[in-house]
Amino acid sequence: MPSSHDQHTPAFAPGTPRQVAVVGAGMVGLATAWFLQEAGVQVTVYERDSVGAGASWGNAGWLTPALTAPLPEPAVLRYGLRAVASPRSPVYLPLRADRTLLRFLTGFVAHSTPRRWRAGMAAYVPLNERALEAFDTLAAGGVLAQTHAARPFLACFARERQAAPLLAELEAVRDAGQDVAFHPVTGWRARAVEPALTDRVGAAVQIAGQRYVHPPEYVRALGQGVRARGGEVIEGTGVADLEHGGNGVTVVTTTAERHVHDAVVLATGAELGRLAGRFGVRQPVQAGRGYSFSVPTEHMPRGPLYFPAQRVACTPLNGRLRVAGMMEFRRPGDPLDPRRIAAIVDAVRPFLTGVDLDDRRNEWVGSRPCTPDGLPLVGATASPRVFVAGGHGMWGIALGPITGQLLAQTVLKGEAPPELAPFDPLR
Ligand SMILES: Cc1cc2nc3c(=O)[nH]c(=O)nc-3n(C[C@H](O)[C@H](O)[C@H](O)COP(=O)(O)OP(=O)(O)OC[C@H]3O[C@@H](n4cnc5c(N)ncnc54)[C@H](O)[C@@H]3O)c2cc1C
Repeated sequence: MPSSHDQHTPAFAPGTPRQVAVVGAGMVGLATAWFLQEAGVQVTVYERDSVGAGASWGNAGWLTPALTAPLPEPAVLRYGLRAVASPRSPVYLPLRADRTLLRFLTGFVAHSTPRRWRAGMAAYVPLNERALEAFDTLAAGGVLAQTHAARPFLACFARERQAAPLLAELEAVRDAGQDVAFHPVTGWRARAVEPALTDRVGAAVQIAGQRYVHPPEYVRALGQGVRARGGEVIEGTGVADLEHGGNGVTVVTTTAERHVHDAVVLATGAELGRLAGRFGVRQPVQAGRGYSFSVPTEHMPRGPLYFPAQRVACTPLNGRLRVAGMMEFRRPGDPLDPRRIAAIVDAVRPFLTGVDLDDRRNEWVGSRPCTPDGLPLVGATASPRVFVAGGHGMWGIALGPITGQLLAQTVLKGEAPPELAPFDPLR
């Protein structure tokens, strides 16, 4: 396989970074590293654990631009407030809140208006429109992991009227100018297409043109892709601090090693605030923890199944069904709470048949990096040599590659493309 170094001649303007460090080997950090390599930049990725150890591992793997929208909106707020503090509800808020959580919640409430949602959605559209194309660029450039067409992608409901909020949201996405194709189907039709559904599914909405990936395989392949092109991916090495100097940025590792780079991209997921705060990034990044596990099934669904009322996502992955859900606002390092797994199981059990929800493997908890306005943080900080890429909340897999592509341009040109303006980390 030819490396991109064979195909691209680096064209460095004086002062353009040649040696860039990326902190965090999740989807966003690895995609940024890969697209920097496209322009001939030498990259070093520092990962305190292993490739994909964060949220990029156990997620649902959906590449669903039709659903990729800001999280704060009036319906989510109403729902969240009702569900507060119940360990068995799909949204869980502990009664003891810390400072980041309080700032996050105050901002989230302030942004949960139709007007703010529309403004946020307008910001997402240019990214959503190119999100899948960015995966195709990675594939064409030699990343050895597939995306799968979601044929079909079905959102399932107990009753027809429950589909109304999703249909309204899809209409709103369309009103924002995004091309979205969807249509309601009867429960009978949904069950005919996906025999894993029970007759408790009374209605569904089919969304066209979506895809999905096997998240662990994908991030692993992306990490290999970065290495194959001459990048260093250093696992087991956390970054404790960054020191800004005249000739570059010094990365100080947790083992007190010091390495100077021309520029640094912080892609540390739910922990973005810790290192980025010193460079003027004031937006809190709160862990919205989600859970997943995999189960065997007699009739493997042909595509992802979504249960919006239960907030549960199911994805066929290598012979097992990954079941994911829950939004738990706690610290990223807190232990897995088995009550949340039980809540997900109880929520989907009535809707699935031939699925052994008690034979669970790979029980997992991970942290979505959530911002109060529901928009990611992508771009330069108060330091022209320090950049951030993260805060994608529910959608860092779908938007990781396009984020990496646009941020690489920002790092190289010293100027953000217009699509990134709403995601300015200093907002
Ligand atoms: C249950 C669930 C389902 C989801 N489903 C989907 C979905 O279907 N589609 C979708 O698009 N998104 C989905 N998401 C969201 C998605 O997983 C995240 O938005 C995305 O993985 C974030 O990627 P990231 O690279 O920013 O962060 P992460 O994947 O968390 O990566 C950050 C990395 O930084 C490392 N790190 C942190 N601090 C340091 C440090 N100081 N030094 C060195 N390394 C450090 C961590 O170890 C980690 O590997 C889901 C999330 C959950 C929890």
